[in-house]
Amino acid sequence: MHEYSVISSLMDLCEAHARKHHASKIERVVVSIGERCAMDKQLFVSAFETFKEELELCKDAILEIVEEKVELTCLACGHVFVPPSLEYGACEKCGGKVRISKGTQMTLLSLEMV
Ligand SMILES: [Zn+2]
Repeated sequence: MHEYSVISSLMDLCEAHARKHHASKIERVVVSIGERCAMDKQLFVSAFETFKEELELCKDAILEIVEEKVELTCLACGHVFVPPSLEYGACEKCGGKVRISKGTQMTLLSLEMV
């Protein structure tokens, strides 16, 4: 499952960070998930719960999810905007074609460690 492989690499990342900072425990993991990130949030949370049991460092970690809004960039004029709805048609300024420049990824925002 997609969510599981994402969590698996997220855990690797957490572990690497903890090692680097000589932390013995991770208390909070904050990630942002894009609105259009093709990921099931419930599944993501349950994958996290499963994985954290296996990693001593993360056992008591709390997962916090911040939703990242989709942001569009116009290919014609470079205008960057947040669409009012989830329908991405054209640039609100010039009507040009747009691409999604934000909101399609999962990013590790921060870790709280002790
Ligand atoms: Zn434009």
